[in-house]
Amino acid sequence: MKPVTLITGASQGIGAATARLLATQGHSLLIHYAHRPDLAREVAQQCLQLGSPHAIIAQADVADEEQVLKLFAIADKSLPPLTGLVNNAGVVDTTSPLADMSAARMQRMLNVNVLGPMLCAREAVKRMSTRLGGQGGVIVNVSSSAVRTGSPNLYVDYAASKGAIDVLTNGLCKEVAPEGVRVVAVRPGITDTGIHATGGEPDRATRLGPSLPMGRAASAQEVAQAIVWLLSDKASYTAGAILDVTGGR
Ligand code: NAP
Repeated sequence: MKPVTLITGASQGIGAATARLLATQGHSLLIHYAHRPDLAREVAQQCLQLGSPHAIIAQADVADEEQVLKLFAIADKSLPPLTGLVNNAGVVDTTSPLADMSAARMQRMLNVNVLGPMLCAREAVKRMSTRLGGQGGVIVNVSSSAVRTGSPNLYVDYAASKGAIDVLTNGLCKEVAPEGVRVVAVRPGITDTGIHATGGEPDRATRLGPSLPMGRAASAQEVAQAIVWLLSDKASYTAGAILDVTGGR
């Protein structure tokens, strides 16, 4: 089967690095974005140059079911059958104790970081499950080391949303492993991407890097390497695993 992978949130950061690495391995790609078509287009161009047979872009807010359905419909129409999903799109918010968080903020966090990946996983399973006529596949969920730290006084809501991703990985793995679908996750530690700016801490990776066991934050490429391995046949007996990519944190 020729590899065909949909990566959510692939316009920048870990998702974009994953797209570029998968391109070098001949994956056809759907590069999803939310707000930045300019960046997504640039990633798609790079992927075509690096070896992707197809690299298309599509917009969706993953928190909106209709938009997720349209996203997968674009994959159905424009690409060979999906073999992989990287459930990567995610958000943080400004740092704050829980006591000061609005319900609207918590709702958005759960919608984008939990409902979105669950909807995308559902649509991927519908297409990949051998029970439903598919050819099997792999779903890689992007969790966070925040599940272990809890992110007190920073974003407990974010940590809780990623806790749900770990449970989704565990449960869905058992549900669909008999149907030829492997479900796994990575838990990145502090990784040098633009996400920290949206939390009001653009320099978080450089500032906290020296305090980490390896003395530095991860690059997006280092997290992408783990995702690419989990997607590959080299990880053919790895199911339900949640791989810490945290530099020992
Ligand atoms: P990033 O550079 O900010 O990229 C986030 C991606 O998600 C972008 O492609 C963005 O699209 C997309 N996105 C944002 N809101 C969305 C929405 N409502 N619907 C759909 N897509 C949306 O972040 P990153 O650091 O690479 O993070 C990727 C994943 O790794 C996230 O799940 C994050 O929680 C996780 N993670 C990151 C770190 C870290 O330190 N960086 C650590 C642990 C876990 P646009 O560009 O179009 O807005």
